[in-house]
Amino acid sequence: MNFLITTKDRNARRGLLATSRGTINTPAFMPVGTLGTVKAMSPDEMKEIGAEIILGNTYHLYLRPGTNVIEQLGGLHSFMNWDLPMLTDSGGFQVFSLSPLRKIREDGVEFRSHIDGSLHFIGPAEAMKIQGILGSDVAMVFDECIPYPADHEYAARSIDLTTSWARTCKGNQNPGQALFAIIQGGMYKDLRRKSAEDLLDIGFDGYAVGGVSVGEPKGEMHEIIDFSAPLLPEDKPRYLMGIGDFGDMLKAVEAGFDMFDCIMPTRNARNGTLFTSLGRISIKREEFKCDDGPLDPHCGCYTCRNYSRGYLRHLFLSREILSMRLNTYHNLYFYLDFFRKMRASIETGTFQSFKREWENIPF
Ligand SMILES: [Zn+2]
Repeated sequence: MNFLITTKDRNARRGLLATSRGTINTPAFMPVGTLGTVKAMSPDEMKEIGAEIILGNTYHLYLRPGTNVIEQLGGLHSFMNWDLPMLTDSGGFQVFSLSPLRKIREDGVEFRSHIDGSLHFIGPAEAMKIQGILGSDVAMVFDECIPYPADHEYAARSIDLTTSWARTCKGNQNPGQALFAIIQGGMYKDLRRKSAEDLLDIGFDGYAVGGVSVGEPKGEMHEIIDFSAPLLPEDKPRYLMGIGDFGDMLKAVEAGFDMFDCIMPTRNARNGTLFTSLGRISIKREEFKCDDGPLDPHCGCYTCRNYSRGYLRHLFLSREILSMRLNTYHNLYFYLDFFRKMRASIETGTFQSFKREWENIPF
């Protein structure tokens, strides 16, 4: 994996992340394909809208269909027919957010499946083994994601555990697979700094900031974003995990982050909430009943070129499958197009005016 920054506009970075399966333009948005599919979208459609990398969830795939099945069917790329780059998370976040019961040990976490209650164990070595079988292009270290709020003492112990797990992951790195570390430390700047320093000492292909957007006020989140970016090496990709709000992403790109992932465009699409150049729209509203205009007059996607708001409202209220497909197509196109425009603004040195323009849209 090779990362090159081609242009900077203050701290905002325009870059190219080259992998053996393709090059990713950064800043990049990674649509989430939790269970080996970006819900409602085919791989061809993902390519059509310009997705260059997607994310797979280790925890979910490990439980269903199970690592053995994916291994027998040739790895995740082959299983789901996606031949472009893919990043897998380590399962850490889901173990901590979804499992009804979990016991943290020095060597990993014992947890119960949220599906059938069965008992499992994943530690750093297991997370690397699973991600090796999945065959993603970028793997993430196994980390503990602490709740908000957490006291300083707990957060301090937790980053030491995460660092020790990261060291084990590095020792078990799969050939041909890049490995990113995850900076933790809650809302404590001294711990964020220590976490970054300890992980940089080990040395990784890229660095992520985790444990944000876990319930803290926006102001605190933005402080951690601004504080964390300069702690990370200039020449490695920086990934802010789980952030998909436009204002937050603009703030993070301004601080120097390069990669993002979020379920916001896909989950909202299925719930009838659509992002447009005029703001956020709930398609079920009465006012759209006889509206023959496109969902977003400034969007060039298949949905906006071919269907009226009135029709999209009807599909949604009738719970038609096409509703999820057309809505998801638009929302993902809108996100990827936002990133295309943001990259262009960095190239032309106009990121600040781009940011102001987008901050005025009522999302
Ligand atoms: Zn559209």
